[in-house]
Amino acid sequence: MSAREGGCACGDVRYRLTSDPLFVHCCHCLNCQRQTGSAFVVNVLIETDRVELLAGDPQPVAAPRSGGKKQRIWRCPTCQIALYSRYTLDGIRFVRAGTLDDPASVAPDVHIFTRSKLPWVALPEAVPAFPVYYDTQKLWPAASLERLEAVLATRSEA
Ligand SMILES: [Zn+2]
Ligand SMILES: [Zn+2]
Repeated sequence: MSAREGGCACGDVRYRLTSDPLFVHCCHCLNCQRQTGSAFVVNVLIETDRVELLAGDPQPVAAPRSGGKKQRIWRCPTCQIALYSRYTLDGIRFVRAGTLDDPASVAPDVHIFTRSKLPWVALPEAVPAFPVYYDTQKLWPAASLERLEAVLATRSEA
């Protein structure tokens, strides 16, 4: 395992992931398609305190999602590139894999929301895929589930 680094387009924001991810999502939902202007997003799930800022100060933007909810997306204040977002848990960030210096250093562990997958995207046989979401307890490795428990424990104490 080696630390992964990444950043925005202008270079003002730089970050380091201080451990391996919990899990890597490739999400084909309509929200992710709209947010990225592309076919899907690749999100590296990792504890918030394992995203170490080396430079810059990403600012959260509340982006509307379907169903009336909002999602906080942290962007570089200068070039506005989206670096990571928060879904339900504040203790976990979804880091956009395309902002890594070496995006090939991660690969999706699961494909989700394939019900809205664009028809020309072909999925690999070896990676689990689900029309909507999946059961974390069944798919995540034991070590990641332990880390998730630690995040949840912190939350209930706060
Ligand atoms: Zn920037
Ligand atoms: Zn999505």
